[in-house]
Amino acid sequence: MNTGIVYTGIPSAEELAGCPGVPTEVRMKKGRVAVIECVQQIPCNPCEGACPFGAITIGEQITNLPCIDVDKCTGCGLCIVRCPGLAITVVDKVLNELEASVDFPFEYIPLPAEGDIVEAVGRDGQPVCKGRILKVKKLPSYGGTTVISMAIPAEYADTVRSMKRLPTERTDKRGDK
Ligand code: SF4
Ligand code: SF4
Repeated sequence: MNTGIVYTGIPSAEELAGCPGVPTEVRMKKGRVAVIECVQQIPCNPCEGACPFGAITIGEQITNLPCIDVDKCTGCGLCIVRCPGLAITVVDKVLNELEASVDFPFEYIPLPAEGDIVEAVGRDGQPVCKGRILKVKKLPSYGGTTVISMAIPAEYADTVRSMKRLPTERTDKRGDK
């Protein structure tokens, strides 16, 4: 079976391994850092201008893959909502002794609330484990995108990249339209 972004819409392990936006394991073990899973050479670059610390470089050739400077990245997450491809997360592999966290863009309603236990999903949208919502960040400058911060068991830090959509009946209950 063919794998990879062109065939499945999901980057393969090989594509991610060669991706200049994915931090090294050494950096991941130091705490929050942007993980830019952008593996296609598309003409796109808003992530580069989004980083106030100059941690993302694409350069003059707009089809270059974004490159992360892990020493400059503070894990602030400002770049997450600027990516139209929803390719950027911020991962903290050392949230505590047992858990990691992943901050990801979420464009659906209803939104979860802090403390909710949800289905954490992988790049393919399939459930991986339970996640605990840490923060729900919805700012005017984010446009229609919310950034969710979610705690997960540490062993799934390389696998989980989002959460499953919540049932729509919650929309009515919370008036969260
Ligand atoms: S998380 Fe913050 S510091 Fe890191 S690349 Fe994104 S905008 Fe820059
Ligand atoms: S904004 Fe997103 S899709 Fe565009 S180059 Fe940056 S990471 Fe890739």
